[in-house]
Amino acid sequence: MIDFRLPEEYEALRKTVHDFAQSEVAPVIGEFYEREKFPYDLVAQMGRMGLFGLPFPEEFGGMGGDYFALCLALEELARVDSSVAVTLEAGVSLGAMPIFRFGSKEQRERWLPALCAGEALAGFGLTEPGGGSDAGATRTTAKLDGEEWVINGSKSFITNSGTDITRLVTVTAVTGQHDGRKEISAIIVPSGTPGFTVEPKYSKVGWNASDTHGLSFSDCRVPAENLLGERGRGYAQFLSTLDEGRVAIAALSVGLAQGCVDECLRYAGEREAFGSRIGAYQAIQFKIADMEVRAHTARLAYYEAAAKMLRGEPFKKEASIAKLVSSNAAMDNARDATQIFGGYGFMNEFPVGRFYRDAKILEIGEGTSEIQRMLIARELGLR
Ligand SMILES: Cc1cc2nc3c(=O)[nH]c(=O)nc-3n(C[C@H](O)[C@H](O)[C@H](O)COP(=O)(O)OP(=O)(O)OC[C@H]3O[C@@H](n4cnc5c(N)ncnc54)[C@H](O)[C@@H]3O)c2cc1C
Repeated sequence: MIDFRLPEEYEALRKTVHDFAQSEVAPVIGEFYEREKFPYDLVAQMGRMGLFGLPFPEEFGGMGGDYFALCLALEELARVDSSVAVTLEAGVSLGAMPIFRFGSKEQRERWLPALCAGEALAGFGLTEPGGGSDAGATRTTAKLDGEEWVINGSKSFITNSGTDITRLVTVTAVTGQHDGRKEISAIIVPSGTPGFTVEPKYSKVGWNASDTHGLSFSDCRVPAENLLGERGRGYAQFLSTLDEGRVAIAALSVGLAQGCVDECLRYAGEREAFGSRIGAYQAIQFKIADMEVRAHTARLAYYEAAAKMLRGEPFKKEASIAKLVSSNAAMDNARDATQIFGGYGFMNEFPVGRFYRDAKILEIGEGTSEIQRMLIARELGLR
């Protein structure tokens, strides 16, 4: 039987995060955004609510939930603000998840409890200045010298890599050659390790209350046991991490798309022009109807991808479809919402202005729209 209703525990979580976003995030986030400050108190509150531990087992301080629960939380947060949502998304699916999936017993015990509690954050360093889409072109190197890896190179645009509570970044690095091909491994680099420099924060178009830095490594030495998972499996590990991350980014995109509908419904019912509420004009009604259609259909796409993931079935194609349609929906809705708000839509103090600035990265991060199309075509057997 097909049943699209959310089971009770998911619905309860969705409502809790919805209320938190409306009552705690909405009133304050605009100021953090404008001052480009990281909202430590909100992140701590999210930690106490258990959001950073949602998909992890209780033995590591997690909530014993699943990835879909994380997606629902991301959707509700992004309905109000994407900076806090991406801090959670990157913290869980890029930061903690690789350690949970591929880490040794010691690595899991050492890092996961604080990450699950939201008291610490971890970054995921794949993208380099020379390219992000072609992730196999990694130039950062790690050479084994006795009992230590010596890392040299740089990474670009790494989320959550430079906050006061960042404890580590997992990076991909070339650790050798096999049959003329690069051997890429993943290595944990604790924050503060000599030779590991977090560059000054970027000036960004959007996600202005989230943390993003370039990183550089100059003869940075970490113990050999900081290798995450098997040597030479780093590239494959990161790609599978990104498959899951795409479903999470799709959920975040749906939240932004739905947030645009929320704001426009309210505004169109209040704003008057030519003697009527603008919501009485069919041109505005059709725009809002189209926005709702995009948010709704994109939600179905990420629900399906998440359902396949949770059933343990292949979900690569569905994850890419969900990421592609939902990031399109977010962009289109942000553009229409800004139009409906007129001049106020161009003002940072209104959420739709933030939505407009935050939407574009959704078509770029965790695989651009072109890369999603390449993955979908490949899954269809096109070579
Ligand atoms: C705010 C922010 C946060 C980020 N957080 C992280 C993070 O935490 N960790 C991390 O590792 N990365 C992170 N990224 C990096 C992000 O994932 C990359 O920017 C993205 O994957 C694209 O890589 P690129 O910027 O190098 O673009 P490029 O790979 O140089 O691509 C440039 C353009 O060429 C297109 N293109 C490339 N190859 C092809 C092809 N074969 N066919 C057709 N078109 C192609 C792309 O689609 C794009 O339009 C973040 C980026 C931003 C902006």
